[in-house]
Amino acid sequence: MDDLSFDANHIWHPYASLKSDLPIHQVSSANGVRLTLMDGREIIDGMSSWWATIHGYNHPRLNQAITAQLDNMAHVMFGGLTHQPAIKLARQLVEITAEPLQAVFFSDSGSVAVEVAIKMAIQHWFAQGKAKKQRLLTLRNGYHGDTFGAMAVCDPVNGMHGMFEQVLPTHLFAPSPTCRTDADYQDSDIAEFRQLISEHHVELAAVILEPLVQNTGGMNFYCPEYLRQVRTLCDQYDVLLILDEIATNFGRTGTLFAYEKADICPDILCLGKSLTGGYMTLAATLCTEKVVAGIAADGSGVLMHGPTYMANPLACAVASENLAILAESNWQRQVADIESQLISELMLYKDYEGVADVRVKGAIGVVELVEPLEDEAMQWLPTFFVDNGVWLRPFGKLMYIMPPFVITPADLSVLTAVIGKALVRLADNS
Ligand code: PMP
Repeated sequence: MDDLSFDANHIWHPYASLKSDLPIHQVSSANGVRLTLMDGREIIDGMSSWWATIHGYNHPRLNQAITAQLDNMAHVMFGGLTHQPAIKLARQLVEITAEPLQAVFFSDSGSVAVEVAIKMAIQHWFAQGKAKKQRLLTLRNGYHGDTFGAMAVCDPVNGMHGMFEQVLPTHLFAPSPTCRTDADYQDSDIAEFRQLISEHHVELAAVILEPLVQNTGGMNFYCPEYLRQVRTLCDQYDVLLILDEIATNFGRTGTLFAYEKADICPDILCLGKSLTGGYMTLAATLCTEKVVAGIAADGSGVLMHGPTYMANPLACAVASENLAILAESNWQRQVADIESQLISELMLYKDYEGVADVRVKGAIGVVELVEPLEDEAMQWLPTFFVDNGVWLRPFGKLMYIMPPFVITPADLSVLTAVIGKALVRLADNS
């Protein structure tokens, strides 16, 4: 059996079936913004390996950071022991996030960072004798990960709640925000959220949401004023605010963290994806002294979580170097340039047949279709993109680009042009 047949029959891929014949492409190496396939073709990456690879693949400094750490110590348990890579990274995270965020919990993936955030919130109230506060309020069209606690706060429809109904806790969902800019914001935008928090605050541990960009749940963009209102309501009703910045963190929307645009600070912050520049799986949950003190209110202060590979030294070392590269780079300029190029090149498609909307925020460009892509399109579209020299992964109604920050204008133009070609072919086929 050749490798691709073995893969097709034996290896699960994300959200994929072992019984379908959707095309898959084998990557042999990656460098800068290019992936090299087994047949020698090079394709331009428009996905940053799902928001992660911000400085490009095979980066000499990231390679060096990881190999230097490897020579020293690949891993050691974090229970009762600590090490320099974790301390250095935690210092950097405390330094670059909002001042009240002082405590860092390292975990292995974004989903687990969300689980930890939920535990922090519930324990914070539990230790203070408020054991009723165990529910969460969140937004429709949100996405927070695939583990059960995280899945319970994903959109109930596209988050598969039907299938797992009996095992998922039931949380509260406010409508997905529709106000794109502060100028559009109206009091009615927050009305249902306000009603839910005012009716249920006694049982609410926290509000959890993705600030400004709801990604996997529909790539919805919304305005900072909505976030400011959420912060005010959380304070008013004594409910913690968890911001899931796993996709937006480290510059993607144009500020280091999306919450900066609203000038607010969360009680708990989830970080991941681009934390290691796309090198290793690592995530972090930060919280304020207030949350730490709440968890310690019953005298113990023990947070009930402890992954085997917690604060893996290789991952921490590469994350530290990734943040150093970011600090030394002119990422603000890179993201602003990507944003203006995406606006000028993708907006051309606004009136194309089958296109419902085009929107851009920072280094994220989205073309939303009127109808979801059909199975027939999902058969040819991935190969069409590869044959045209790009790596893009559309889903549902969405074609989107979130390239590495180091992409050149010429390479970005190739990505946007191929989206145009795909839209024409989709319209021709319909
Ligand atoms: N939260 C958000 C906002 C995400 O985008 C993702 C990943 N798409 C997650 C959580 C889960 O992260 P992971 O896939 O690393 O578990």
